[in-house]
Amino acid sequence: MQDHRHDDQDASGRLLQRAQTALAGEMERPLPAGLYLVATPIGNLADISLRALAVLARAGLIAAEDTRHSRKLLSHFGIKAELTPYHEHNAAKERPRLLARIRAGFAVALISDAGTPLISDPGYKLVREALEAGFQVTSVPGPSAALAALTSAGLPTDTFLFAGFLPPKGGQRRKRLEELKPVPATLIFYETASRLAATLADMAEIYGAREAAVAKELTKLHESVARGTPAELAMAFDSTELKGEFVVLVGPPAPDEAEVGDEAIVARLKQALKQESFRDAVRSVAEDFKVKRSRVYDLGLALERKDRDAP
Ligand code: SAM
Repeated sequence: MQDHRHDDQDASGRLLQRAQTALAGEMERPLPAGLYLVATPIGNLADISLRALAVLARAGLIAAEDTRHSRKLLSHFGIKAELTPYHEHNAAKERPRLLARIRAGFAVALISDAGTPLISDPGYKLVREALEAGFQVTSVPGPSAALAALTSAGLPTDTFLFAGFLPPKGGQRRKRLEELKPVPATLIFYETASRLAATLADMAEIYGAREAAVAKELTKLHESVARGTPAELAMAFDSTELKGEFVVLVGPPAPDEAEVGDEAIVARLKQALKQESFRDAVRSVAEDFKVKRSRVYDLGLALERKDRDAP
């Protein structure tokens, strides 16, 4: 009988060695002065990247939303860096100080409490000013709840709109939902536990039977993704006592056949034909646009004819 425990031990030994070599390589790469936007885990600490560790370990200064929170993350990985708070209340005052440190030749890293800085988190103005000052700005990409939710929701991923947090007040929230209603994209929202039920109820009213999803506690122990119409999800999350972190997604509106132009279909068909057979491309484009297959088929034939006749 095979000893799987032994195999696992061998595999993790090999992985450890490779990861160590990769990390050592990152640690040796120069870290020029500039601003580094470093993504950190949204729950599972193992999601930190080797490059993130190498940048954070060598940064001259780390600006963090909540230094106590970030100190825990850094200590977990044995990183003893200088931390300074950078949040919406002190940002205007702190920005010139951070830029001065870069000017003095330091690599300054920006991290948020979780995920990717600037994504519903501070940093946008700092990046603008760093660029205006001619400094190098480098993104060290990694986890973000928006993309983790989008990729696991089962909703279209070709076009999406990240809308961040909705306004907390009902009237303004509904107005914003109405504004976003015609956008032909999957909509991604961040929402707090206490407002989730009210938001889903508003979505049920405004978005009707569109497909939607609620991603909860991504990468954490009680991770889940619920799928359904906004009304079904509103029933499932009908409580103000909810706990956890949530992303809400709403699929694009079904296009009215008459509203879909031939140009849009042809453009998508050209893309699809690069990866799929004629038959499969016609089927998937017809499904994506919710239009008759025969219409896409005819446009495809015309396209082929045009390509054949082209000099
Ligand atoms: N910068 C972060 C990112 O890249 O995802 C987002 C920061 S924003 C202040 C916090 C919100 O992100 C939460 O209220 C929640 O909507 C969402 N979020 C963060 N972590 C999450 C997780 N593990 N699961 C689901 N949603 C999460």
